[in-house]
Amino acid sequence: MSNTFEYCYQCGGVLQLQRVKKIHTWKGELIGVIENVPAWVCNQCGERYYDGEVLEKIDRMMKERTTPTRTFTVPAYVY
Ligand SMILES: [Zn+2]
Repeated sequence: MSNTFEYCYQCGGVLQLQRVKKIHTWKGELIGVIENVPAWVCNQCGERYYDGEVLEKIDRMMKERTTPTRTFTVPAYVY
């Protein structure tokens, strides 16, 4: 993957490529959780940055309703 990002836009910290769990929401609804997503994570404030191609792939996965690797129930609460 190309090094799209180098420094954090928020605090100027150094970004490191990590694999993270990304929560995908649409209009406030939890759609799914994508694991093992490559993201640039700030070593100071924890801000995450995603490459455009990564976001596009996730969008495609969600639109095409790719069969999930596994499904788990997320507890929901009412305030
Ligand atoms: Zn930062």
